[in-house]
Amino acid sequence: MSDQPPLRLRFAPSPTGYLHVGGARTALFNWLLARKTGGTFIVRIEDTDTDRNVPGADAKIMDDLRWLGLLWDEGIDVGGPNGPYYQMQRLELYHEVVRRLIAEGKAYYAFDTQEELEARRKQAEAEKKAFKYPRPERFPDESDVKRARLEGRPVVVRFAIPAEDITVHDEVMGDVTVPGAELDDFVILKADGIPTYHLANVIDDAGMKVNFVMRGQEFLAQTPRHIALQRALGYPTPRYAHLPLIMDMKGRKLSKRDGDVEVHSFRAQGYLPEALINFIALLGWSPGADREKMTLDEMVELFSIDRIGKTNPKFDREKLLAFNTDYVGAASEERLQAAYDDFLSVSETSTIARANPDRETRRELLRVCRGFHTFPDIDTKAGFIFVDDAAIQYDPAAVQKVLVKDGGFAMLENLLPLLEKVEVWTTPNLEALLTGICESHGVKMGKVAQPLRVAVSGGTISPAIYDTLVLLGKDKTLRRIRNALAQRS
Ligand code: GLU
Repeated sequence: MSDQPPLRLRFAPSPTGYLHVGGARTALFNWLLARKTGGTFIVRIEDTDTDRNVPGADAKIMDDLRWLGLLWDEGIDVGGPNGPYYQMQRLELYHEVVRRLIAEGKAYYAFDTQEELEARRKQAEAEKKAFKYPRPERFPDESDVKRARLEGRPVVVRFAIPAEDITVHDEVMGDVTVPGAELDDFVILKADGIPTYHLANVIDDAGMKVNFVMRGQEFLAQTPRHIALQRALGYPTPRYAHLPLIMDMKGRKLSKRDGDVEVHSFRAQGYLPEALINFIALLGWSPGADREKMTLDEMVELFSIDRIGKTNPKFDREKLLAFNTDYVGAASEERLQAAYDDFLSVSETSTIARANPDRETRRELLRVCRGFHTFPDIDTKAGFIFVDDAAIQYDPAAVQKVLVKDGGFAMLENLLPLLEKVEVWTTPNLEALLTGICESHGVKMGKVAQPLRVAVSGGTISPAIYDTLVLLGKDKTLRRIRNALAQRS
């Protein structure tokens, strides 16, 4: 590699929404290869499909990339020598190239209306032929353009693609050849003066000196067109690697119908970025030797293109959950705290996030709920601590079993005056009191803890009872016991 120029790779999302896990994988593999080889990782925004752009999506994509730990060296927000990095700010560059192609006879104006194109397509279909735009014998000139505009026709520019076979030397898929006869004169500049994806993508890769393009396999069919454009423009053709498609568990292309597919959703559902990125890394790549758990640094160390497979990987949500559980279990207290704070800052459904507890309480929650899979489990287990007393819903089955049948109401009657007398509301004091009661009543702790649990939470799930009572505080505990006693009919 030493005599080769350093690799320049890019991630080029369209700002149509949140970052998808497929996009995250593309970004990750590009990032890994850049880091591995001492290359450069660029992020640019492909926003020429203006109908599909979502305002603010670029900021969200950046936020998710950063959350995953994938920082870029050049591009949007960070700048660099080859900008601007938003395609809509590069229109002048594209127009210049289009003018050059027209002047050289490599591209030409076309004025067909949608209806005319549609009619031709239908005719080809009826004749069972593939539709190919018929290149005119004489390319329209500026006066034709003027006339067409006056007639209200759309004026586009088409690329006069040379009739030669094109082979993509794909580093994952191998050589893929498309016969010249199948390539047609596609549009490079739309009637509104905005280039199509193909043109902008090729000009930007050249302008940003990208020498290695890694992207999803859905783009492979377009690559011969891109190579043809590069040749017409005298640009070098970068190396290509198209990544296998990510499938759902049923073997269909992963889509939203299977559940969440956006990085942000996993973030808001309390996954750790290190677990998610590790899981994503294995979607089409593996370091071999059954190795699965890796930090980003280890991935950089182990990454290589030749270990990207051709087989379409499956997006196994159970595996992701298992990864997350393991990562949570192995995380340091500090790391978990930081990740939990991030979760609370993005979650729109967490009761605890809404209650905005102080740092000490957040730390306690992580301690008393340990063993969880994802952060919302903490809400499931301890969310009741943070709601108004009036919001506690008593689960009829729990009331019936624990409070009525097992004598819980009577136990709460006993406990209430004793708890009222506890002056310093700490674990040791509560423990002394409750174990004393167990002994004097000759019962196991469950007979004391379970009624308390139902009284303060409405159900039978909570952290350990002392932890629960301490987190609740004395006033809330007593109020909820009284409310529970009022349930007795
Ligand atoms: N803009 C394309 C996308 O939205 C990326 C195309 C490419 O990587 O060449 O995924």
